[in-house]
Amino acid sequence: MAQLIDGKQLSNQVLQEVASEVEQLRAEHDVVPTLAVVLVGEDPASQVYVRNKVKRAKETGMGSIEHRLGTATTQGDLNQLIDQLNNDPQVHGILVQLPLPSHLDEEQVIAAINPAKDVDGFHPVNVGALAAGQASLVPCTPQGCMIMLRQVHPDLSGKNAVVVGRSNIVGKPMAALLLQANCTVTIAHSRTKDIESLCRNADIVIAAAGRMELINADWIRPGATVIDVGINAIEVDGKRKLVGDVAFDSVSEIAGAITPVPGGVGPMTIACLLLNTTRAARRQLA
Ligand code: NDP
Repeated sequence: MAQLIDGKQLSNQVLQEVASEVEQLRAEHDVVPTLAVVLVGEDPASQVYVRNKVKRAKETGMGSIEHRLGTATTQGDLNQLIDQLNNDPQVHGILVQLPLPSHLDEEQVIAAINPAKDVDGFHPVNVGALAAGQASLVPCTPQGCMIMLRQVHPDLSGKNAVVVGRSNIVGKPMAALLLQANCTVTIAHSRTKDIESLCRNADIVIAAAGRMELINADWIRPGATVIDVGINAIEVDGKRKLVGDVAFDSVSEIAGAITPVPGGVGPMTIACLLLNTTRAARRQLA
């Protein structure tokens, strides 16, 4: 049976580190690291994510500001708010919850955020810095995956890693971080041929396709480490349930280590968002 990489427990450790950094910034510099969260529209999943982020931020002693805007918000209104937050010295991190309603241009919104306050790590300046191996604000989900991987592999050097998914928010930054850690990285996507055998050769498989239980035991080499980023909502007996991109029951019998869904990558993502906010606050001091 695979070792379970417990995201809840690990995220609590990260949140404790965040809380002590918040305390240090307050004691040494009279600064309260503050995260501004912007939510546009009524998407129920986004409302839950925002609520959890704000709740956790408060638990660490961090400041948090919520801006809830109606679905009819224009690009101009949103840009104006971002401008205001960019120029507010009390705000250290800005997060615009995605997806935005379809009439709004996400790329434009991301580009409008000051890269120094871009705690999601999606701004082209931060994306470029990560690709070039320079210090940057790193996207939260892949950052959380790296912390989880290091529990099992303190030294990732020379490992064969396959990342299933090539999105800008998960797959691509994940591959960049693994490469920085000296893994040999393959990125697979919906057009990849014989993805199963690529995965079967991997020491590490990161599943970020958004396809329920795509990856089963036949895809996994005995002893491999499997990180499941996927979050897929299904209904079982009229109740909503979350499942990952990995068929947990069968894969956990063959893998060496595995993350659960829920309770895996999800909590780590929020913890890394708050970690990024303290990092942004410290850099802004400098
Ligand atoms: P996207 O839909 O943006 O990207 C999915 C990627 O998976 C694409 O690159 C796509 O390929 C690839 N893909 C889709 N189907 C297959 C397939 N059958 N075989 C191989 N590759 C495939 O999703 P995200 O990256 O935003 O998110 C991925 C998953 O992670 C989702 O379930 C999402 O909910 C979850 N997620 C979880 C987070 C957490 O905190 N735990 C945070 C963010 C996301 P192509 O490019 O060719 O279309």
